Amino acid sequence: MHQFLTKCDEALTEISSQGRYRRFVALEKLTDRFPYYSVTMEGRTRDILVWSTNDYLAMGTDPQVIEASADAARRYGAGAGGTRNIAGSSPLHVALEEELADLHGKDAALLFTSGYVSNQATLTAILNSLPDWHVFSDAQNHNSMIVGIKGGKTATVHIFKHNDMADLERLLAEAPAEAPKLIVFESVYSMDGDIAPLEQICDLADRYNAMTYLDEVHAVGMYGPHGGGVSERDGVADRITIIEGTLAKGFGCHGGYITGDFKVLDYIRSVAAGFIFTTALPPPTVAAALTSIRLLKQDSTRRTKLFERAATLKAKFLAAGLPVMDSNSHIVPLMIGDAAKATEISMRLIREFGMYATPINYPTVPRGTERLRFTPGPKHTDEMMNNLVTALQQILLPAETQTA
Ligand SMILES: *Cc1c(COP(=O)(O)O)cnc(C)c1O
Repeated sequence: MHQFLTKCDEALTEISSQGRYRRFVALEKLTDRFPYYSVTMEGRTRDILVWSTNDYLAMGTDPQVIEASADAARRYGAGAGGTRNIAGSSPLHVALEEELADLHGKDAALLFTSGYVSNQATLTAILNSLPDWHVFSDAQNHNSMIVGIKGGKTATVHIFKHNDMADLERLLAEAPAEAPKLIVFESVYSMDGDIAPLEQICDLADRYNAMTYLDEVHAVGMYGPHGGGVSERDGVADRITIIEGTLAKGFGCHGGYITGDFKVLDYIRSVAAGFIFTTALPPPTVAAALTSIRLLKQDSTRRTKLFERAATLKAKFLAAGLPVMDSNSHIVPLMIGDAAKATEISMRLIREFGMYATPINYPTVPRGTERLRFTPGPKHTDEMMNNLVTALQQILLPAETQTA
């Protein structure tokens, strides 16, 4: 046997023994009944209520979004047929980039295959533009940013404590005054559901002459009067050098993007390998995203509903004595603190109660902070929430403390 195969066996055994073996549940989305999905498990097919989708506003099943996608497929075909440089740019791509630039009040936008690739490709490109960048990266940044930063060949990386402005300032002050500096952070951190102090980070960036790179993946479509993210809500979008987002979460489609000054984006477009050497997004996806963004720009009904639903679920969890984590966003995490237990609760929710919530285990979160993550959306009703609370009480709490 090749030594790599031996390694695979060992590693998988180790992962299983820690209760971290990842089982993908095949969930068939029921468009007209979202967030219900059809699931076949142990030879039995039934409907499962999903609590863990990142399609936060149910835009992926919006009839207008679906129709835009189907119409574009009929007109322009299933795929783009090339990179942006080789016959893959269409008027739809250009329109989507204009729409995104407008959403964030920036000169320009650039589409990528995914949010992951937009972070990785852009950060690596920036950090190889000049020698000896100093990068200041939040300790809870997403893997796509960490990998992008690691791609910078001569960059010095400083990790600041999560959302800790004193720590960030200390590191900025210690770095050479003349070095090019970049602060890399998110707005909504999706595992804890907390939000960065954007204005304070911008103030520090001004004071120490640093550029800013903000991942708004878990905020676009949902925060701000037009869905421009927390930077729109807080009125600081014009102070951020690059705002990055996804079309795959709040907008319910697929793809990633960055927005910023024309010159900066013109440079990234010209040098970032992850932008240049890959096929452009498929027209149906681009058309769907364009429709989704426009719907959310014009109308805040879904946003308002999202926050009302999240607040209601948090209140119900609290009232029931469930270990809900403190969060000031639309994300509702429940602390479990053990990988095997989180996985077991998730399996029991499906088997016994017909509901699904993803267990979040290491390496996505630190060991000992394993959790279940709930993302209630506009279509999760009070009745669904009451059933969820009853199920979680039966699984988690000793019988005498149960209220229902
Ligand atoms: C999901 C996620 C990404 C990646 O976006 P995709 O479009 O899914 O590739 C980037 N950053 C953060 C913080 C994310 O949670």
